[in-house]
Amino acid sequence: MQVVILGSGSPLPDPERAGPSTLVRTSAGDVLIDCGRGVLMRAAATGSGAGSLRALLLTHLHSDHITDLNDVITTRWVLSFSPSPLHVFGPPGTAAVVHGVESMLDLDVGYRLAHHDELTWRPSTSVTEIDSGHVLDEGAVRITSARTDHTPVHHSLAFRIDDGDASVVVAGDTVPCAGLDLLCKDVDLLVHTVVRRDLIEAFDLPRLTDVLDYHSSVSDAAATAARGGVRTLLMTHLVPAPTPGTENAWLDQAAASFSGGVLLGSDLLCVDV
Ligand SMILES: [Zn+2]
Ligand SMILES: [Zn+2]
Repeated sequence: MQVVILGSGSPLPDPERAGPSTLVRTSAGDVLIDCGRGVLMRAAATGSGAGSLRALLLTHLHSDHITDLNDVITTRWVLSFSPSPLHVFGPPGTAAVVHGVESMLDLDVGYRLAHHDELTWRPSTSVTEIDSGHVLDEGAVRITSARTDHTPVHHSLAFRIDDGDASVVVAGDTVPCAGLDLLCKDVDLLVHTVVRRDLIEAFDLPRLTDVLDYHSSVSDAAATAARGGVRTLLMTHLVPAPTPGTENAWLDQAAASFSGGVLLGSDLLCVDV
């Protein structure tokens, strides 16, 4: 199994970091987790793309995690040669969001159907709203989810993908919580969103300091990894984005609470699991 950080950024536009999105390449196909800004540009660099997705998993419905959902739906459709529904799994509210995007695309769909004679089907999705538990089984791949705590976002999810003996958890945005602890027990790789509490507190700007109460700090994520007996922690969705030369400070903060491997996410960072 291979895990690729497609976007290591946050809601703040950054020329070096696309919005939050992680690609997990499994023996049952490519699974995309969240679809932030620029996701398909980054996916193109991996040889993957909207057309080859076995499933799209949404951790929650904050805009930065679903910015490019319309691009995924449209690109999958216009590059297909037969109807190919996009399978979307996410928390309650996912169906309303997906159908809202589809209705936003209605005019465009009409233009393209009118223009291409051999394109006779509309884009399609199949949406499954989920809670903690089983998500999908296919071959050696098993996907499970757990509720996380990103209050007031109700609810938010983390996903675990097991492919044979290899395992990865993608935590999404959350503070430390029991659901996540259970999900990442003995996992090979934990992909966790993080914020730097020390840097954000220094801003003294409520719009920014507000993010602290519903995200994990670097130390929080490291402590979660330690409790789970995780082999490697991969930090992503980095807020604020690390300035060049400060990467070690992020790694050192994590290493203070976790003795396993620690990686700092960047776009297109690829980890074999
Ligand atoms: Zn969020
Ligand atoms: Zn976020």
